[in-house]
Amino acid sequence: MNFYLVVRNMKYDCLIIGAGLVGLATAYQILASDPHLKIIICEKENEPAFHQSGRNSGVVHSGVYYKPGSLKAKNCLEGRAELLRFAKERVKVQEIHKVILAQTERETAYLLELEKRAQANGVFGAEIIGPERLKEIEPFAKGAQALYLPHCQIIDYPAVAKELCQEIQKRGGEISFGEEIQEFKEETVLGSKREYAPKVVVNCAGLYSDKIAKACLGSAEHQILPFRGEYYLLREEKRSLVKGLIYPVPDPQFPFLGVHLTPMVNGKVEAGPNAILALAREGYRRTDFCLRDISDVLSYSGFWKMAGKYWKAGMYEMARSLSKRLFVKDVQRLLPALEESDLIPGGAGIRAQVVKKDGLLMDDFCIREDLRSIHVVNAPSPAATACFAIGKTIAEKALLRLHS
Ligand SMILES: Cc1cc2nc3c(=O)[nH]c(=O)nc-3n(C[C@H](O)[C@H](O)[C@H](O)COP(=O)(O)OP(=O)(O)OC[C@H]3O[C@@H](n4cnc5c(N)ncnc54)[C@H](O)[C@@H]3O)c2cc1C
Repeated sequence: MNFYLVVRNMKYDCLIIGAGLVGLATAYQILASDPHLKIIICEKENEPAFHQSGRNSGVVHSGVYYKPGSLKAKNCLEGRAELLRFAKERVKVQEIHKVILAQTERETAYLLELEKRAQANGVFGAEIIGPERLKEIEPFAKGAQALYLPHCQIIDYPAVAKELCQEIQKRGGEISFGEEIQEFKEETVLGSKREYAPKVVVNCAGLYSDKIAKACLGSAEHQILPFRGEYYLLREEKRSLVKGLIYPVPDPQFPFLGVHLTPMVNGKVEAGPNAILALAREGYRRTDFCLRDISDVLSYSGFWKMAGKYWKAGMYEMARSLSKRLFVKDVQRLLPALEESDLIPGGAGIRAQVVKKDGLLMDDFCIREDLRSIHVVNAPSPAATACFAIGKTIAEKALLRLHS
């Protein structure tokens, strides 16, 4: 009987939902501050980093894009440093340069703004260059002007997640895979396998963090819309056209960076990702759909306001997803030598992006909390880069509750 009670109602100081990079880095930071705490991570999949953390571009962002003083800027810079320290001698990290290419006057104006942000955020070595210097750095790229960042990195994020799992387990933390958190009842958290009685709940559920926040807090201030990002891969014989990270100037209306060219640590080169509203939160293929997810989207007023504001951009994204020719045209703005036959279909990732009730896409990271729970509501890119810093912030919040 005693055994049954223990199994039914497992006691923990802290229960973390989600073994993506943010959940794992949170557990790591909590245990680094207090190794005596009893913590568990519940992950519905059978491995870590199965969703956003394992399906991203693999770039360690340097902090150019983010408004100085924003949570994105602060966490990207702090998190990047700690990520690189942690990754050293554990996972593959490659030094690489990056160029952000402006083609038009409007883009050049925003490029200058990005340079200011880079300076304000302390991004080392950022400089504006002209076409001649660009040719030396990226012989096949095209740009009227470029922002050159000589010190960037690419990384194997799934390997970082696996290393984090090992560290957490070494320090006494538990990870329960195949355990979906389904309900919250007073002091109890109900999983698909067990019931838990944690003192603090931390929600790092990525694409489902709004649902978890609503179930736990009883209200939802924001809703996540899933934006699929599809990639193509460059054929092996064309990879040498790309020397480093080649990005366009992003549209400042959106938090997405635009279709870019990204060498990866496995030697492949990706082109993408685009950004299309997915018909299922975890719908990685164009044909995937989930009626409940679609009805969630259609019944959300923020979606209709967003559609009213950005319908043109949305239609273009859909057309570019269906037409390889259009996709390639955008890649050719960066790299004119590339032809349609040089690209083959690659994978896809889905961004958990909060759309506010006024239809605007939430730009900054966002955390909601009450006395017993902390919820990572909006953690899109660069949250993989920033995971250690976000994890530290949440750890401080959790420890405050546990030690008071
Ligand atoms: C296409 C794309 C490209 C990107 N490129 C970059 C990049 O180059 N650099 C960068 O820094 N960032 C990038 N990002 C952003 C970055 O990958 C994410 O911001 C980050 O991985 C978010 O981590 P997370 O832990 O919050 O979410 P996730 O990695 O999505 O983890 C959430 C976890 O919660 C689990 N879960 C959900 N519901 C439940 C439940 N009920 N019970 C138990 N478990 C649950 C899920 O299975 C999942 O494993 C990119 C994102 C995408 C989609």
